[in-house]
Amino acid sequence: MSAKKTAVVTGAAGFLGSHLTDRLLAEGFRVIGMDNLVTGNVRNIEHLASNADFDFIKHDVTKFIYLPGKVDLIFHFASPASPIDYLQIPIQTLKVSSLGTHNALGLAKEKGATFLIASTSECYGDPLEHPQKETYWGNVNPIGPRGCYDEAKRFAEAMTMAYHRAHGLDTKIVRIFNTYGPRMRLEDGRVVPAFIGQALQGRPLTVFGDGSQTRSFCYVSDLIDGIFRLSQSSYHEPVNIGNPREMTVLQFAQEILKHTGTNLPIIHKELPTDDPKVRQPDITLARRLLGWEPKVEFEEGISRTVAYFRDFLAINS
Ligand code: UDP
Repeated sequence: MSAKKTAVVTGAAGFLGSHLTDRLLAEGFRVIGMDNLVTGNVRNIEHLASNADFDFIKHDVTKFIYLPGKVDLIFHFASPASPIDYLQIPIQTLKVSSLGTHNALGLAKEKGATFLIASTSECYGDPLEHPQKETYWGNVNPIGPRGCYDEAKRFAEAMTMAYHRAHGLDTKIVRIFNTYGPRMRLEDGRVVPAFIGQALQGRPLTVFGDGSQTRSFCYVSDLIDGIFRLSQSSYHEPVNIGNPREMTVLQFAQEILKHTGTNLPIIHKELPTDDPKVRQPDITLARRLLGWEPKVEFEEGISRTVAYFRDFLAINS
């Protein structure tokens, strides 16, 4: 029997799940990846096809999860993550973070495994505290179009803490802020692939509202490093992981024009309902607890991401 530790990653064919899988394999884990491929894509894990330490199971984690053998660590990363996806598949979005979290926690209890849930800055909703600290309880509209994601993730956090308190399970909660990098879906509607795709295809950039809303963008390798460190820690309450460098959406559009060497028009479209006006992580806790700090500068991360989408479009168009 392998002496390697076994990790399960739900959502392994997604943007973050696939990068997390790569990191776990590099750290010497055996990884079982699960995905129902609703928003994930096997393209993100096809480079692992011949890796003896990686297995893929096509499974919808809202259904009971049966796995033989030992499992040491479970990362529950399955979920649609783009506001456009929530609008199209709100019920699946609710189910994967409620029923799916329950099943993944049940598996962790059965195996005596550590459990880490991918939560989100959306738990803070349209925040009235800025930047957002983990102690802030948030300002979420439960019945708006984003409610299916926000409330499901808040439920997932509550369920995770309940398993920790009631069953003594070793659990961790990461609140992920806006993250970008290779393997995002070009058409997923989020601002990074949307603007880069538009710029590379010579279309106007679509800024929603006046573009004064802010976001803070973290490069994917930094995020994954913070998550891996958290998985090795003994802290059970939520930890923000994100890059505090904040900018307006309009500034972000201008950066994309600069980095793609284009001079396309910026057009304004209606601001989606409940679109948060500001977002910036307070990462004091992650710094202190995990000795973690984002390292990849915005300019560097954006160049790598633009290069990825350029190659992707050259192959797929
Ligand atoms: N946004 C935009 N144009 C687009 C897509 C998004 O102006 O084509 C804005 C959106 O309204 C939000 C920000 O960019 O204010 C980030 O949106 P995203 O969908 O990436 O995720 P969010 O941070 O809202 O969850």
